[in-house]
Amino acid sequence: MSDEKLVSQSPSDNQNFIEALITEQQHSGELKGKVITRFPPEPNGFLHIGHAKSICLNFGLAEQFGGDCHLRFDDTNPAKEDQIYIDSIQEDVKWLGFDWSGEVRYASSYFDQFYAWAVNLIEQGLAYVCDLTPEEASEYRGWATKPGKPSPYRNRTVDENLALFEKMRAGEFDEGACVLRAKIDMASPNMNLRDPILYRIRKAHHHQTGDKWCIYPSYDFAHGQEDAIEGVTHSICTLEFQDHKPLYEWFIEQLPVPSKPKQYEFGRLHMNYTVMSKRKLKQLVDEKVVSGWDDPRLFTLSGLRRRGIRPEAIRTFCDGLAVAKTDGIVDIAQFEYAVRDDLNQHAYRAMCVLNPLKVTLTNIDDTQMLTLPHHPNEPSMGEREVPFTKEIYIDKADFSTDTTLGRKKFKRLVLGDYVRLRGAYVIQAKDIVTNDQGDITEVIAEIVEGSLGANPKPEQKPRGVIHWVSATDAVPCELRLYSSLFTEEFPEAGEGHFLEKANKDSLTVVKGFCEPALASAKAESNWQFEREGYFVADRYDHSQDTPVFNLTIDLKASR
Ligand code: ATP
Ligand code: MG
Repeated sequence: MSDEKLVSQSPSDNQNFIEALITEQQHSGELKGKVITRFPPEPNGFLHIGHAKSICLNFGLAEQFGGDCHLRFDDTNPAKEDQIYIDSIQEDVKWLGFDWSGEVRYASSYFDQFYAWAVNLIEQGLAYVCDLTPEEASEYRGWATKPGKPSPYRNRTVDENLALFEKMRAGEFDEGACVLRAKIDMASPNMNLRDPILYRIRKAHHHQTGDKWCIYPSYDFAHGQEDAIEGVTHSICTLEFQDHKPLYEWFIEQLPVPSKPKQYEFGRLHMNYTVMSKRKLKQLVDEKVVSGWDDPRLFTLSGLRRRGIRPEAIRTFCDGLAVAKTDGIVDIAQFEYAVRDDLNQHAYRAMCVLNPLKVTLTNIDDTQMLTLPHHPNEPSMGEREVPFTKEIYIDKADFSTDTTLGRKKFKRLVLGDYVRLRGAYVIQAKDIVTNDQGDITEVIAEIVEGSLGANPKPEQKPRGVIHWVSATDAVPCELRLYSSLFTEEFPEAGEGHFLEKANKDSLTVVKGFCEPALASAKAESNWQFEREGYFVADRYDHSQDTPVFNLTIDLKASR
């Protein structure tokens, strides 16, 4: 991209602090080229809603300022990484609607360069091979209020260090036998500067580099240098890296890097009623508390997708989050609001009866095809044909024989009274049929002639509007009703392990009856089942023969 494409913005109150800073840097001339950001996941799990905040921020800045955003896998720890995660992360970023500039990048493709830079630090007398055991090293490091003391290996000569480091690389030492450390300041109040580890021995096969390496760089040694190699201008990370910043800058100063990136920190997304870290999500998956990384109850992006949440809703939610230098907990209600608002506009309307009760309409015989809109306010979303037949199903909960029920209190069908069937006639319940146990098995009713699309006489005024399907033409379907995996607001807090707090009843599968048009719903299409909730045709299991819908969210907030 050429410089002409740079979008210069004026500072505005709506900008977050990073946007304001970039605007300022462009005005002052401090930022000469284009903005380059990156999203740098470690491929050790699936992405979650917290990552979406970082993705929207990094890709969003590049879009807004006419720059580039890279997708770079921070793959320096082969023991926990896997190709499955690499694939899913790319899929999720694309699903969210972003595209990275250039090829996918890998920290591991810079391993030769990192090695050369480690050698460079040794040659400058700024790194040494240390043989302390991890326990000894931690004792030598001291703690925040107690200065560390120098490792006995700190004064090895450059030649000795070069030879030892080469032996580490050649696989001549066992894992844990030694590490390469930077020589900075064992008395620094910032623990990160007390001779941090640059390289560890890990005799692990790497998904990208195979068995080429048996030493791997630490996050701290790799991250800033990756940014420098890629010409990243704004390396945006979360607040826990604030204390690592002096180290990030130290490497950039000491090494002959091709560019000088800067690190900026913002607050992570935390949300109540869920766990977010990949490590914990992995435990839920591994312990089979959920069906997989894309279980609709997880706040992974693939789980949210399978739940029927559209990427647009996630982006709107993320755009509304504060990008600030503080951490805070976002109420899940804020997320749910964004989801409902998006689905209200974009979900097709249809009817599905979850708990059927047969109603026989005695005064009609022939099937009548009704044409109903897919959306009340969006004619462009089209229409569907709904058969209206002599036998229909309504929901059991929508009928009562209690004639004393107030009209305001119970806006459904009561024996003797009137109700409107959504998009169809007003009907009057005349009688009931019961079985030997006394349960109501059928309602006998009549339609009010002339009430299709018109008001009946005042004395036939319906109590309300209920949903229905044709009993003869409806299609049986599977409905997966999800509720919150955690009913405790902070599952990680307090007594007990979060795994044990997972709500075992958070999935109920029921059989329902849906409009015939729903059988041909496309996988992943979003529907509002009138009066029931928002549903999605399951990404994998839904088919014309066996329609399967997942509950995305109830129509109204219940918390
Ligand atoms: P986790 O603890 O879930 O494993 P992580 O920070 O280790 O998260 P990375 O793969 O390193 O995950 O994350 C890639 C990017 O996403 C990083 O820049 C990280 O700061 C950001 N990120 C991760 N979690 C969140 C969150 N909850 N809110 C905002 N950004 C996040
Ligand atoms: Mg991590």
